[in-house]
Amino acid sequence: MAELIFLGTGSAWGVPELGCNCPACFEARRIPKWQRTRTSFIIRSGLNILIDATTDLRSQLLRERISKIDAVIITHAHPDHFLGLEEFRARNRSERAFRNVPLFVGEDAWRVRISALFSYLVEGEDTPLEIKEFLYSDSHFSLGEWTIQTFPTRHSLPEKIGSTFGFVFTNGEKKIVYTADYFEIIDPDDELLGGADIFITESTWLLSQGEEKEQEAGHISFERLYHQYLRRFRPRDVVLVHISPEEGKTSRQWLKTIRSITKPDKGAPRVHLAFDGFRIKI
Ligand SMILES: [Zn+2]
Ligand SMILES: [Zn+2]
Repeated sequence: MAELIFLGTGSAWGVPELGCNCPACFEARRIPKWQRTRTSFIIRSGLNILIDATTDLRSQLLRERISKIDAVIITHAHPDHFLGLEEFRARNRSERAFRNVPLFVGEDAWRVRISALFSYLVEGEDTPLEIKEFLYSDSHFSLGEWTIQTFPTRHSLPEKIGSTFGFVFTNGEKKIVYTADYFEIIDPDDELLGGADIFITESTWLLSQGEEKEQEAGHISFERLYHQYLRRFRPRDVVLVHISPEEGKTSRQWLKTIRSITKPDKGAPRVHLAFDGFRIKI
């Protein structure tokens, strides 16, 4: 039995956004459940595997009472997904919490951006993090019971931030797919991505913003991802993360619209609008 622990479920600036009084941010100020820190989660089954280290990592781990991280995977080199790596550095203490924790990161993401800030975390002998191997768009690696495979997605400009990856986790019984930030999946492989037990996906917007705007921003809406990917890959459960308040839609509007989009489809997956602290067992 594995458990997914959603540390954060918001887009780059969280919800509510500073200085914003749209209905979504107003709702989040009133109802703590709908306050969203930046998107990250843990797959727990013996090991705690952290996917992305966000700006909010410290408060997320304290909130969920998690003090042990066994591996870190970084999906791409945007600040909301990697700035929390600094939290792995613990100074002035004889008992260090994090020692040579394996870090999995794209070779180009590390080179063009992340290493400029965080090379000190991996350089030397006894360091908080350790890079054993870099990731590429068709990497395979193992962590505990999980075999993990990357797949390439289009998100932001590779010359600026390097590659962005999605990941498929399998343990012989269960399959978890995570797409991280993306506008589209590059040459999607139906066998690799189809029939997942849980498909975790960013859903920056609820309704389609039009192909051009979504491409320019490098993100996807629930409406488009449902028709383009979920109907094709047929997962059992879907978990939506990286939710933005940009459209000003309240959570009640999200839930209602998700139902109306999926209702006509008899074999539709169960769709969960994740919130910070949401947990699901598989
Ligand atoms: Zn992001
Ligand atoms: Zn991003």
